[in-house]
Amino acid sequence: MSGCIQCGYCCKKYGMRLEATPLDIARWRLEKREDILVHVDIEIKNEEVKGGRLWVDREGKNEKECPFLVLKDDKYYCGIQDTKPEVCTWYYCDKYF
Ligand code: SF4
Repeated sequence: MSGCIQCGYCCKKYGMRLEATPLDIARWRLEKREDILVHVDIEIKNEEVKGGRLWVDREGKNEKECPFLVLKDDKYYCGIQDTKPEVCTWYYCDKYF
């Protein structure tokens, strides 16, 4: 998390407008991360996974906040840091740089 000051800004501002890639979904399936997959509205076309809308509840409605954002001791953490969506990995923090 080089450069991250753990303010939670990016996750709170953009966390509900994210898309999972087909690779994210394949990885979560391989890792048997049902806890993550239940929050993904997976898009399938012609039997092929195209991606997925993040983050949804069990009825497919948008969650109010990323369900994996954790606040501890006034700092925010990603609860799925080791396997977070690619879009979160690529995020460029303009507050830090
Ligand atoms: S998956 Fe992790 S990095 Fe991405 S929005 Fe949620 S808490 Fe933030």
